[in-house]
Amino acid sequence: MPDTNEAVTHAFWLAGREATGESTLEVTSPWDGRRVGAVSVPTEAQIEEAVAAAEAVRAEFAATPAHVRAAALDHVSRRLAERTEEIARLISDENGKPMKWARGEVGRAVSVFRLASEEARRFNGGEAQRLDTDPGGVGRLALTRRFPRGTVLGIAPFNFPLNLCAHKVAPALAVGAPIILKPAPATPLSALVIGELLAETDLPAGSWSVLPVPNDQMPALVQDERLPVISFTGSDKVGYAIQASVPHKHCTLELGGNGAAVVLSDYAADPDLDWAATRIGTFSNYQGGQSCISVQRVVADASVYERLLPKIVAAVEAQVTGDPSDDATDVGPLVSEDAAKRVESWVDEAVQAGAKLLTGGKREGASYAPTVLADVPADVTISCEEVFGPVLTVQSAADEDAAFAAVNDSKYGLQTGVFTRDVQTAFRAHRALEVGGVIVGDVPSYRADQMPYGGAKKSGVGREGVRFAMEDYTYERVMVLTGI
Ligand code: NAD
Repeated sequence: MPDTNEAVTHAFWLAGREATGESTLEVTSPWDGRRVGAVSVPTEAQIEEAVAAAEAVRAEFAATPAHVRAAALDHVSRRLAERTEEIARLISDENGKPMKWARGEVGRAVSVFRLASEEARRFNGGEAQRLDTDPGGVGRLALTRRFPRGTVLGIAPFNFPLNLCAHKVAPALAVGAPIILKPAPATPLSALVIGELLAETDLPAGSWSVLPVPNDQMPALVQDERLPVISFTGSDKVGYAIQASVPHKHCTLELGGNGAAVVLSDYAADPDLDWAATRIGTFSNYQGGQSCISVQRVVADASVYERLLPKIVAAVEAQVTGDPSDDATDVGPLVSEDAAKRVESWVDEAVQAGAKLLTGGKREGASYAPTVLADVPADVTISCEEVFGPVLTVQSAADEDAAFAAVNDSKYGLQTGVFTRDVQTAFRAHRALEVGGVIVGDVPSYRADQMPYGGAKKSGVGREGVRFAMEDYTYERVMVLTGI
């Protein structure tokens, strides 16, 4: 377990064993700037060694029995659960995430490994297809099974430093595909825990590596032909640049969003508006708004807008900001002071352009106060881009169609929350909204790890969610039997 209180430099995981390179990466707390630890950085030769080891074990690993892979994944799940508190503290230290959310993240990773263990046992039962539907197919039968595409290069962001790594690693190992995991530079220590727990299993050593590769060395790794699958979670800028550099590879891109919560006219009773406001107030700020499905926009029907607005402001102001290690804290710092300064500049730009600041709007170091803006002009940065901070914009819409159109008026399309009690409205929303997921009766921020998860438009390509990632990491290979 990476110890956050010692001036230690942690090893990384190279083909199932600990290794150190020639340089190190410092990890500091965004809350108080203290040194959380450091991780050794692999040399070019060590990166090559990891890729070669994965290639060497690839065929053997694809053929391991399902029960062996399932047992290893189940072991990681149970060990994560046993160590929830210490791992949550590590996440909180390196990421600045409040403990309450960090514990939740560990719980999610426990589920991801458990689901992968279960799916490993079910996956690839195969399908038989009769071919005698035409004269040429008489006496023939097609059998279809899925096989790994090859070694997966998993690239993860900083905001869920454990669980989004779990979403790369667990489905790959579940299908028998080797994985090279590259965590974010700000948060490599949580990823090392996954390595530590995998090292307790008897998976083939070459089948997994956790390598904190510096960004400037990533293009060479991305180009490596022995890594045919790239599973990337992060910003659209980096994601699309990767995809453009390797158009022949199988790339899954889980990118940004500017999630909207829509509150419709039938959601007008006081308890309903209270629920919507509480959820919006919480999930526009959880992890400092640094979630791809954080609520960034509220679009409320004009008939409920005036009553909803003060409730939202009150819910946002009720968020407890401060030290992420304190159990009472809801909102900690952003990942860096630069990130907070960027958010500040976007809010200032909006206010100068005529937006009304209803609460918040203050920065202290890396912390930015939970903020609500109304009457935001459509052409300012915060209306067009992903803010990735604790800032919410609110607007009214004349009716349901106008509300859905406002949601779709975005280059992103990850998830949308729709507060309605009407089942037909829910189905209309499902049809009309150009997003990867519609969450009825709650905010867009809801995600269960077995659900298909991913974006429309510039929010990405492909789907995660354990079974869906397993499908993504494999391809169908058909076998035709003749003379039967
Ligand atoms: P980022 O794009 O800056 O970095 C993501 C990863 O890419 C990091 O590991 C980084 O080191 C690596 N990287 C950077 N340059 C690279 C290069 N040239 N080649 C290969 N890899 C490179 O993103 P971030 O700031 O860490 O994360 C925030 C972003 O992630 C937000 O846009 C957020 O919406 C998105 N995100 C999306 C999802 C989702 O599932 N859709 C989930 C979480 C976060």
